[in-house]
Amino acid sequence: MSAKIESNIATDETVIEMRNVNKWYGSFHVLKDINLTVAKGERIVICGPSGSGKSTMIRCINHLEEHQEGEITVNGTRLDENLKNITHIRREVGMVFQQFNLFPHMTILDNLCFAPVWARNMPRAEAEETALRYLERVGIGEQKNKYPGQLSGGQQQRVAIARALCMSPSIMLFDEPTSALDPEMIKEVLDVMIELAETGMTMLCVTHEMSFARSVADRVIFMDEGEIVEENAPAAFFDSPRMDRTQKFLSQIL
Ligand code: ADP
Ligand code: MG
Repeated sequence: MSAKIESNIATDETVIEMRNVNKWYGSFHVLKDINLTVAKGERIVICGPSGSGKSTMIRCINHLEEHQEGEITVNGTRLDENLKNITHIRREVGMVFQQFNLFPHMTILDNLCFAPVWARNMPRAEAEETALRYLERVGIGEQKNKYPGQLSGGQQQRVAIARALCMSPSIMLFDEPTSALDPEMIKEVLDVMIELAETGMTMLCVTHEMSFARSVADRVIFMDEGEIVEENAPAAFFDSPRMDRTQKFLSQIL
């Protein structure tokens, strides 16, 4: 993995603010008083044991999950019941999932054009032009007429990243994007994410790829049992974790 990438991209401008966010699934308290402020251009890695609430937390940011208490603000828009606000926030936030979630019956090109054409009324020709540009950027240009099932897992995940970028988000959320991949395909996806980080994209990545965290993240957040237990710059986080729970987790994965 490359050396630490230039870390001067993060700015003072706040793009995500979570204040005392609480969420329950029935009686199960899944997010406990989450406070998180993300600056424009910041790259954050979120780690923690399975079931600690990482997915739930980032899914609350684009309202794939609903929080019950506290405030979430994205680019100045408050996330509440107002459908207009939710739509506005979803325009800003792209998401990539562990299980690529491509439409299996559509070609790669159609997968990328679908939302811009149907949700944004973009003319098809313009959507194709944008799609091709992003497919080239993730190194998949020549596969545009294939179906997802004809591509490797690593290629499908790169397509999923390109598809999210076609909606021109200002923030990208990644939920364990390499966890479903065979080991030899992890690097090609991480390389695309590193390139994206270098463009100054604000990124929140749930991942256990610790070399990625060390070289790309401005900040690492450790979650356990619905809480943010510890956060720090990567070097300090890995080399001198403060909390017992963090130390235990790191000893299990490193
Ligand atoms: P992580 O991503 O850290 O593995 P999740 O956010 O997926 O954790 O889940 C946190 C906890 O909430 C887990 O105990 C999980 O079983 C539970 N959970 C997740 N989604 C639901 C749901 N839709 N209904 C009930 N419980 C859920
Ligand atoms: Mg998860």
